[in-house]
Amino acid sequence: MKNYQCHCGNTVYFENTRCLVCDRSLGFLPDSMQMAAFALQADGAWQSLAPAPPGLYRQCANYARENVCNWMVPTYDNHIYCRACRLNQIIPDLSNPQNHVLWTRIERAKRRLLYTLYSLHLPVVGRDGGLAGIITVDDLLELMAENLMELTRIISREQAEEARGRK
Ligand SMILES: [Zn+2]
Ligand SMILES: [Zn+2]
Repeated sequence: MKNYQCHCGNTVYFENTRCLVCDRSLGFLPDSMQMAAFALQADGAWQSLAPAPPGLYRQCANYARENVCNWMVPTYDNHIYCRACRLNQIIPDLSNPQNHVLWTRIERAKRRLLYTLYSLHLPVVGRDGGLAGIITVDDLLELMAENLMELTRIISREQAEEARGRK
């Protein structure tokens, strides 16, 4: 997982929500796979300060309300959840505060997994076609298993092609 740079030049990380140097809010842009610092506009939209592409975003509802996410949603996307959180169909029972801690960890692991899958250009499709939102360990394991199989297929195909190329 690579490190990123804040608008102010400070090094920031995939999980960060605030720059410790300039105090700007930070968020991950899954559409361009980068961390960005944001300026809050008068109308409530978050203006990305990343060099490219410029754009207006909203914080994922799980970022704004629950603080378990740091991904952003482009304003042209009507979904309240980011691309990671909309895969959830169930979340833990938050009347137990311990569950919030556990949920935070699950979401973090899921975002890292999705980052890897997107980096490899592997398809990520939710159970209902990708548009709804629970996360169960089952779902996560299933997702990992499916994508791992796909990854294995791609790697073995590449290895076979490479081996043929060497002959
Ligand atoms: Zn900064
Ligand atoms: Zn989210």
